[in-house]
Amino acid sequence: MQDERKSMLIVISGPSGVGKGTIYRRLLDNDPSLTFSVSVTTRTPRPDEIDGVHYYFISCEAYDELLNQDAFLEHADVHGNRYGTLKSQVDEKMAQGLSVVLDIDPQGARQVMSLRSDCVSIFLLPKSISQLRDRLYNRNTETPEVIERRVKNAKDEIAQRSMYQYAVVNDNLELAYDQVAAIITAEKQRTTRFFPEVE
Ligand code: ADP
Ligand code: 5GP
Repeated sequence: MQDERKSMLIVISGPSGVGKGTIYRRLLDNDPSLTFSVSVTTRTPRPDEIDGVHYYFISCEAYDELLNQDAFLEHADVHGNRYGTLKSQVDEKMAQGLSVVLDIDPQGARQVMSLRSDCVSIFLLPKSISQLRDRLYNRNTETPEVIERRVKNAKDEIAQRSMYQYAVVNDNLELAYDQVAAIITAEKQRTTRFFPEVE
């Protein structure tokens, strides 16, 4: 029997600094059936970020142009910058049979959930707000003003967690990673995603 699965759209959200990137990068390293949807953003790149890998870094004018072209599956203003998921990124990768991970905020997640009701949605939580703040200061990629803005927004984001199917606390990284990987493993086994050829 050939064990083939339909590809999935996997939405991962959580406040800035909770560990979304850390966890999804490890998922991608360990599971070749997964790929990442590279978003566009008007945010300034961090020193270690590569255009086309972490984001497509674009101007506000180019972002408006994409909006006019209806190029986004979802888009939102987050922490004072603009972010969007390109339909082309998701559609082309899913057409290749890959499952696509979206690292997007709750505003975008809400849009995706209403358009793709079969998506898998996971919200990552910190143990506490102070843990989140510590992680952002330790990551050292934003100014204190930007960090405090993100921490302030975290409370609103966390309040929206109940719209997601799953919630995982990222306190111990190994445990959180295993829990997210287990969700994805289980989701792949849904009868609705399974089309075996029985001979
Ligand atoms: P996000 O993508 O959600 O903004 P990151 O993945 O960049 O968050 O993680 C923020 C910081 O916290 C990074 O420096 C990362 O190495 C660290 N980090 C992530 N998960 C843990 C964890 N469980 N314990 C300690 N540090 C963590
Ligand atoms: P960062 O600036 O730290 O990379 O991301 C800030 C926030 O924007 C995070 O909550 C992240 O999930 C969200 N984000 C990143 N890309 C997108 C996107 O394409 N759409 C939406 N709605 N949010 C995004």
